[in-house]
Amino acid sequence: MVSGTTPPLQSPEPELTHLSPGPEDALLIIDVQNDFLPGGALAVPEGDAILPVIQQLSCLPFGLIVTSQDWHPAQHVSFQTATPPGPWPPHCVAQTHGAALSADLALPARTQAVFKGTEADKDSYSAFGGADTHGTSLAALLQHNGISRVFLCGLALDYCVQASALDARTAGFQAVVLTDACRGIASDLTPTLNTLRAAGIALCSSSALNSSLSG
Ligand SMILES: [Zn+2]
Repeated sequence: MVSGTTPPLQSPEPELTHLSPGPEDALLIIDVQNDFLPGGALAVPEGDAILPVIQQLSCLPFGLIVTSQDWHPAQHVSFQTATPPGPWPPHCVAQTHGAALSADLALPARTQAVFKGTEADKDSYSAFGGADTHGTSLAALLQHNGISRVFLCGLALDYCVQASALDARTAGFQAVVLTDACRGIASDLTPTLNTLRAAGIALCSSSALNSSLSG
C-alpha cells in the first residue's frame, strides 16, 4: 500500500553481514539427535561438523533458544517397518539414546524443547508441528516470548530444517537459515536453498552473527 514513495533498494539482497541477535530473536536448533549424527540410525553426512558451530551460536544473546526433537512411538508411520512402509529406517524412538540430543552440545539451562512426530499415525518434519511438554506449540512459545525473527540450524537441511523454516514464514516470523550450522542428506542442496530463498528466507553464515560478539 506504499504508493510511489518507496526508496530505491540499494542492494537486491537484504544486508546480512552484521546481524546482531537480540531479545526478539530465537535460535531454533532442529533435531540434533544421536540418530541423525554419525553412528545413528539415520545419520546425516558430516552431521557432527555443526556441533561446535551451534555451541558457539548458543552463547549469543538470543531472546529464546528452542531445540526440536523427533520423538516417535516404537511403531511409527514414517518407519520402513510400518504397513505400508514409510520412507525411513526406524529412528528417534522416544526415551531412547537415539532420540536424545547430542551430549556434545551444552546448551543454556533456559533452553526450551519441543517434540514432534509423537503420534503413531502422523509425522512432522517441521518443528512447528511440535509442542513442549505442556502441549504449547512452537508458534505459541515464540509468540509468548515476543519473538519476531527465528534463526534456524540443525539436521537435516533438506527435510526438517527446510520444513521448519517454511512454516516459520507461514506463521509470520522472519526466518534466517544459518547454512554452515546445517547439514543435509542430499548431495546437492541447491534445490533446497532455492526453495528457501523463494519463500523469502534469508541464508547466511553463522560467522555473520559471531562477529557481533567481539563488537
Ligand atoms: Zn522422524
